[in-house]
Amino acid sequence: MMPNTDAILVTPGEKNSFRQGSVPVVDDLRPGDLLLEVVAVGICGTDAEICEGLYGQAPAGHEALVLGHESLCRVVRAGADTARFKAGDLVVPIVRRPCPERCPACAVGRWDECMTGHYQEHGIKALDGFLRGRLVLEADAVVPAPAALGELGVLTEPLTIVEKALERALQIHTAPGHPQTGLVTGAGPVGILAALLLRSRGLDVYVVDRRPADSPKARLVERMGGHYVDDSQTPFEKAGPPGGFDIGLEATGYAPLVFRALSALAQNGVLALTGVTGGHHTLEVDVNLMNSTMVLENQAMVGSVNAARAHYERAVQDLAGFQLQFPGLLEQVITARHPLAEFEQALQKDPDDIKTIVTLG
Ligand SMILES: [Zn+2]
Ligand SMILES: [Zn+2]
Repeated sequence: MMPNTDAILVTPGEKNSFRQGSVPVVDDLRPGDLLLEVVAVGICGTDAEICEGLYGQAPAGHEALVLGHESLCRVVRAGADTARFKAGDLVVPIVRRPCPERCPACAVGRWDECMTGHYQEHGIKALDGFLRGRLVLEADAVVPAPAALGELGVLTEPLTIVEKALERALQIHTAPGHPQTGLVTGAGPVGILAALLLRSRGLDVYVVDRRPADSPKARLVERMGGHYVDDSQTPFEKAGPPGGFDIGLEATGYAPLVFRALSALAQNGVLALTGVTGGHHTLEVDVNLMNSTMVLENQAMVGSVNAARAHYERAVQDLAGFQLQFPGLLEQVITARHPLAEFEQALQKDPDDIKTIVTLG
């Protein structure tokens, strides 16, 4: 008989349909499989949107989707042909999986650049997520995390978003001796992790939000040696370096801010966009000025979504690096913890909250 495990289920498209239930765990492992117990799951805006009924897709033939995509798991039992793994190892599952057609991008492991749009995503699109006690995954669908990271490994997935965005920006920004200055818009989890990544690369970093200068987010930015700018008091264009920013990482999805960040770039500057907002927003922009500035100053704006295995591997290493370079700081990124039974509270967000996690094991 197949054992069951507690889970948070949602009926995609149906507002507030999330509930605690139970799902079966397959426990005879095929070669290459790992039996995992979930340690923690990070909650983000995507989960909230799925709970709002705005997004999400259940696995084929199912009415409900197991929610949760940002996770840290522990190996309970490793099947045959999984020599890299043993019981007790921490692992981070990769959220997006290749499309069934194996398009040219998916065929080489770049599912983040999938060309058919038929990719699948755990806890979001056609694959069950990680808000459940146990599950079985193929060993090649996870990356190992160092034991020293402990629970902080749950920050891997949001950091992968930043790793890929920065990689794209740096593929374009090749000016000698640069980048030196960084702009991060939004001090949520992605913004704070972006600031840490840019600081760890030695950039002078400015983080923009609308919380007061004595708020926990502002203090966190200062503790990593960054500059915090409360944009409701001082526009970041005035507070930043006089020559503008070499690299911008936009993490709010608020389009008017995107154009402000673009116009705050330095010569050769690159702005990478990671956030989206639904609905419509009309804005009057001097496109002649925008065009001539971007041409004459070699600037670029690039979008970035999701991440490939290499970004997960880099994120895990960088988190371990942050622990050494900024001791005790990552712990402050996790601002709220809830057990599975309190999932509803985990969806509520205080403006000073950064990352809320659900703890399971
Ligand atoms: Zn997320
Ligand atoms: Zn594909």
